[in-house]
Amino acid sequence: MKNLTFESQPASFVESFGEIKILRYTVSHFDRLPLDQKLLVYYLSRASLAGRDIIYHQNYKYNLLIRKTLEAILEHYPGDRQSEGFEQFIVYLKTLWYNNGIHHHFSKEKTMPEFSQAYFEHLIRETGQEALAHLFPTTDEAIDTLAPILFDATVAPKSLEQDASVDMLRHSANNFYEGVTQQEGESFYQGKKGQDERLSWGLNSKLEHRDGELVERTWKADGMYGQAIGQIIYWLEQARGHAQTEEQAGWLEALAEYYRTGDLQKFDDYSIRWVQDTRSTIDLINGFIETYEDPLGLKGTWESILHVQDPEATKRTQLLSQNAQWFEDHAPIDERFKKPSVRGVSARVVEVAMLGGESYPTTPIGVNLPNADWIRKEHGSKSITLNNITRAHHEAMVESGFVEEFAYSREEIERNKQHGFQGDNLHTDLHECLGHGSGQLLEGVSGDALKNYQSPIEEARADLFALYYMMDRKLIDLGIITSFETARAQYDSYIRNGLMTQLIRVKPGRNLEQAHMRNRQLVARWCYEKGAPDNVIQRMEHLGKTFFIINDHQKLRQLFGQLLAEIQRIKSEGDHQAARALIKDYGTLVDRELHEEVLGRFRKLNIAPFTGFINPVYEPVRENGAITDVRLRYDEEYTTQMMRYSRDYSFLPPDPDQ
Ligand code: ZN
Repeated sequence: MKNLTFESQPASFVESFGEIKILRYTVSHFDRLPLDQKLLVYYLSRASLAGRDIIYHQNYKYNLLIRKTLEAILEHYPGDRQSEGFEQFIVYLKTLWYNNGIHHHFSKEKTMPEFSQAYFEHLIRETGQEALAHLFPTTDEAIDTLAPILFDATVAPKSLEQDASVDMLRHSANNFYEGVTQQEGESFYQGKKGQDERLSWGLNSKLEHRDGELVERTWKADGMYGQAIGQIIYWLEQARGHAQTEEQAGWLEALAEYYRTGDLQKFDDYSIRWVQDTRSTIDLINGFIETYEDPLGLKGTWESILHVQDPEATKRTQLLSQNAQWFEDHAPIDERFKKPSVRGVSARVVEVAMLGGESYPTTPIGVNLPNADWIRKEHGSKSITLNNITRAHHEAMVESGFVEEFAYSREEIERNKQHGFQGDNLHTDLHECLGHGSGQLLEGVSGDALKNYQSPIEEARADLFALYYMMDRKLIDLGIITSFETARAQYDSYIRNGLMTQLIRVKPGRNLEQAHMRNRQLVARWCYEKGAPDNVIQRMEHLGKTFFIINDHQKLRQLFGQLLAEIQRIKSEGDHQAARALIKDYGTLVDRELHEEVLGRFRKLNIAPFTGFINPVYEPVRENGAITDVRLRYDEEYTTQMMRYSRDYSFLPPDPDQ
């Protein structure tokens, strides 16, 4: 566990505006890499930035035009920059960069400016015709085009509409379909699926009407977004010359080939080669990958996550994987539900080296790919935890006073500071490497027997497996932890979160819908109730504030084991009714009074609920034309970085639809 000891890092906080805070991550392993690997990272970092414009245009067709206009104002507006209006303008632009467009990345709703339309018109006129000439023929036209989009709440109100009672394609402002009804879109792709059920139809194209027919405009080198895709290909090819392994050189070429042709069969070829490369320690996710933004779940948003393996932490996950059978054999579940032979997933712990597209500046903390089910089944998948991102999140949390507010005792606060980060990481490792892969269904039970309760039950199962084993001697014997303080810190925060603090992300009056939130409350509330006779978890009121205190961590571990046994039974037998009862009784309803109290306490802490990250700057050192080293800089500010990217990595015209 040494590798995770909480050391003091350079302060990660950069700035905050509105509800958003910006942090900086560091790549602590980069300096130790040999030159060849530094060059590999450097070239892939450029491939990660080259597609930046694509995500703006995917999110909404006018986003690029708006961004470029506002950036021209920022550069050329000659008037008062200290005024309240101008400050509001700056916050709006920073928020737009944060969301890769005018819609909020989480709520999907359009961000309304704080400044008035009159002030916007003033900004445009004062900035002047010349500074905007590359975007509009006249300033009047700039105003006529943009004012309704920015100020009329009824124009493009949501980037993504998921209300099934309306036409979700028509009501989503994002740019995957044009003039296409939901029914047309659905039947178009059903037809494609009929031809070949394996391909990820629709993943890399926009669907629109042309001459009375539905046609796809494919995102490829000589198609839509071609100017940006050509740049991505160029940097992938540069990188290939420095590949660490043959497998890596193979999938880099396959990825470039897919970008050149837009052929979905080639995307699968690439995905298979990529998932089979388990030797390379530098890896890249790059392309049209996740489909959350499309109401039909087909269109991939462009993203890039470049990462470097954390060798020490990865040793830990490998150790868990190698001992997967031991954990399976000793699990507190019925023998009939155990796998006779189990293989742990080799989840790797990595440090992010560059974020791009949809993953910048907001980023996930863990990723598991590819998405195609048949590839996962036949060739496996790769799972990563982004260690430097979770570390920065944790540091920001420690500094915010959050734990001080919601933890009852000094002891608990100290334990969180000392062991909280290790506890979170160990939980994730156990959950990903062992939890999901453990256990088996009884003969004849279907994998989707639990229907809509499948996902919270499965997450609860993996969580409980992790919680149960965190406090097992075996982890000390394996040298993964040195004491159970790590487990105690994790138990404290899991219970606190499940019974109380996760409610900060729920709107007043609402109940729990999201699978992870349901599972956490289910676990915490079940243990709270079942442990009541022994007072395992105690509810306390102190000065009008509610706290939950764990009086006996060992007994709590036994409760985790009991609930794991029951949840495993439900899954193995496909007991839909029992799944529903558990979720209904423990995982759905919110304690209104407590919710209100928690929201009030959180508000007083004044913590920005949304977080983004800025990237390091890679600087090649040249001697006689050749690159002899690559250095990392961590001093770039948020606005400087955004404006630099807009200058150096903007390869698309303001309206790529034309
Ligand atoms: Zn999970």
